[in-house]
Amino acid sequence: MSARILSGNAIRDQIYGELESEIASLAAAGIKPGLAAVLVGDNPASKVYVNSKIAACGKLGLASFHITPPATISTAELLAIIQDLNARDDVDGILVQLPLPAQIDSKRVLEAVDPAKDVDGFHPMNVGHLVAGRPALVACTPAGVMEILRRSGIPIEGANAVVLGRSDIVGKPMALLLLHASATVTIAHSKTKDLKDVVRRADIVVAAIGRPAMVTTDYVRPGAAVIDVGINRINDAKQAESFFAHFPERLAEFHRKNTAIVGDVHPDVVNVAGAFTPVPGGVGPLTIAMLMSNTVKAARMRRGARAPAVAASRT
Ligand code: NAP
Repeated sequence: MSARILSGNAIRDQIYGELESEIASLAAAGIKPGLAAVLVGDNPASKVYVNSKIAACGKLGLASFHITPPATISTAELLAIIQDLNARDDVDGILVQLPLPAQIDSKRVLEAVDPAKDVDGFHPMNVGHLVAGRPALVACTPAGVMEILRRSGIPIEGANAVVLGRSDIVGKPMALLLLHASATVTIAHSKTKDLKDVVRRADIVVAAIGRPAMVTTDYVRPGAAVIDVGINRINDAKQAESFFAHFPERLAEFHRKNTAIVGDVHPDVVNVAGAFTPVPGGVGPLTIAMLMSNTVKAARMRRGARAPAVAASRT
């Protein structure tokens, strides 16, 4: 039996609809939320990500500021840019696109962002608030996964959730969000023993490991909800043939382009899971939607009394 497909694009559109009315009520109070994106150097993948974030701001009517220092910038110079953005009243959110060049002290840079403008949710103060279950700016990808689960009616309370991956930007905040939603959470990683057995116990699997199609059908309990965070580019025809053996259209597309994007979950899992996020078109669109949501939230929180209250139910 084929799983219910959880479309990230449809949920993103729902969230954009809600944001449009929040942005309109802020505009009526004279507030236009603004996002500053700092892109150091010219990493092509980072450029694509930042351009799509800037495009989303344009679509929703948010202000955006694109700051593009050269790859040779020093930590001190980058810190000065961050201080300037922290001080600007028209900037509500600051994102520093990762990875930064090797000479930059990335931790220092991320910790220099004003926590009130930290729309990526990476600052230790926001991470601490998340641990304590206090309102905070939460990392966008895990927040997006919660939106997918909630808006798709996947039961979370009391569910066994396995988060595969323990990174600071996905795995750890994901586990905390599921825990706060009263799931029983297991965090698995590269040192986990009997990984398949651990994952097979899950009602909800969130895969964030960066290993193309590693989660095969034998990891998944029939009927489980499987959320695939992975984004992996493959260029190898043998790999494509094994991943897309039952998906002739995807294989044909691979052969046309000599490349494809796959998640951390094998496409065949769609035949075992109860619910399944596709890659592309699953979690990815939510990451940008939650960045927009965090920018609006930061504007409301920071501009305090000037911003009208709204009932935002998002993470
Ligand atoms: P990361 O920092 O590389 O972390 C990967 C995690 O997976 C680590 O905790 C690692 O364990 C674990 N892991 C690696 N190989 C494993 C294995 N064979 N078995 C079990 N665990 C294993 O990656 P990340 O930044 O969290 O990203 C994960 C994936 O999500 C990537 O594909 C990335 O492209 C994607 N991503 C997507 C979005 C989106 O918008 N959809 C956003 C962010 C990331 P150890 O800690 O033991 O090394």
